[in-house]
Amino acid sequence: MNIAYLLSERLYLNITNRCTNRCLFCIRDTSDGLGVELWLPREPDAAEVIEAIRSAPGYPNYPEVVFCGYGEPLLRPDVVTDVARFLKEQGLKIRINTNGQANLIHGRNVVPEFAPYVDSISISLNAHDGPVYNELCRPAGGEGAYQALLEFTEECRRLIPNVVLTVVNWPGVDLEQCRLKADSLGFGFRVRSLTGKFDSLAR
Ligand code: SF4
Repeated sequence: MNIAYLLSERLYLNITNRCTNRCLFCIRDTSDGLGVELWLPREPDAAEVIEAIRSAPGYPNYPEVVFCGYGEPLLRPDVVTDVARFLKEQGLKIRINTNGQANLIHGRNVVPEFAPYVDSISISLNAHDGPVYNELCRPAGGEGAYQALLEFTEECRRLIPNVVLTVVNWPGVDLEQCRLKADSLGFGFRVRSLTGKFDSLAR
């Protein structure tokens, strides 16, 4: 079970393969994926994630540990919180990559639960407006998903030192408008590169 994997010296944590979005550009739907087998036969509990971290090559000398995927880590805020608390005790820097839908999906504000242990959060903005977001990301949260994402960024701003909005360079996404939106909200901004081959889409 590939729970912790190294990429560019960072340690990435794969705690779920579930996601509430079905983005057209999702790496899970590419024919080659990330080049690391990340499909989980079952979801690990926090103790198993911590054990995988302790057993990872180079532990604990990483510039950053990233909750990432395949899948949306904040579908499991309890596991993220327990593992992030452990990592913080080891003096490691922690980032979460998220689709920003957690509060909408859980029906409560989960940010205060994990924020005390997290240094950075990268939130996938993915579009300059709600209609384009819905078309590209097909969120389970429906029409209100983009607004919920923006509200989630505000909760993160209050409690997490570094908040970055990201987009994928994909047809129909106005990168400049996304950049302006991130600027106007006072967040960092990054364009993510597409990974994987989209020649054999599973869905
Ligand atoms: S939010 Fe991420 S994991 Fe979820 S469908 Fe989109 S690209 Fe895939």
